[in-house]
Amino acid sequence: MVLYRGNMLPLLVRCYPGQGARLFCRENRFEAYVNGRLSKEQQEHAIAEAFEKWAVRDFESRLEERLKHFCNIIGVTYGAVRIKSQKTRWGSCSSKGNLNFNWRLVLAPDWVMDYVVVHELCHLKHLNHSKDFWLTVGSYMPEYKTAVKWLKQNGAVMLQPVTAD
Ligand SMILES: [Zn+2]
Repeated sequence: MVLYRGNMLPLLVRCYPGQGARLFCRENRFEAYVNGRLSKEQQEHAIAEAFEKWAVRDFESRLEERLKHFCNIIGVTYGAVRIKSQKTRWGSCSSKGNLNFNWRLVLAPDWVMDYVVVHELCHLKHLNHSKDFWLTVGSYMPEYKTAVKWLKQNGAVMLQPVTAD
């Protein structure tokens, strides 16, 4: 199963003669094509790699759209954006106004990813976690505590490697 935008979707694996693995997102499932001559372990590794490649690209385009959307609402501009693969952080904002986001946020429901985007953009106004910072976050996203809770409860699942059904 694969967690994607808050839903657990099946991952079907088929063998093909090509190199490594290729991943496709169908309507309600993922399909991986993997070289059948690889060992089980190598297949899993290749599929995980193909999934990450696909998910990073998917996240990138979603993130661009959400950043544009919330920058307009909040009235901020940022420097550079980087997409990271971290085990401990979902996002960060530097004192120079550069933003980092974890591609695994695409595994969370859209409203949870939106919360992290809003959180980091609010750091462009308050570079701390002061009361004013949280008031600002809450003024753009009144239900943000539900998203914080979702990340706490599901963070570990988001870090799990994908597995075939
Ligand atoms: Zn923060």
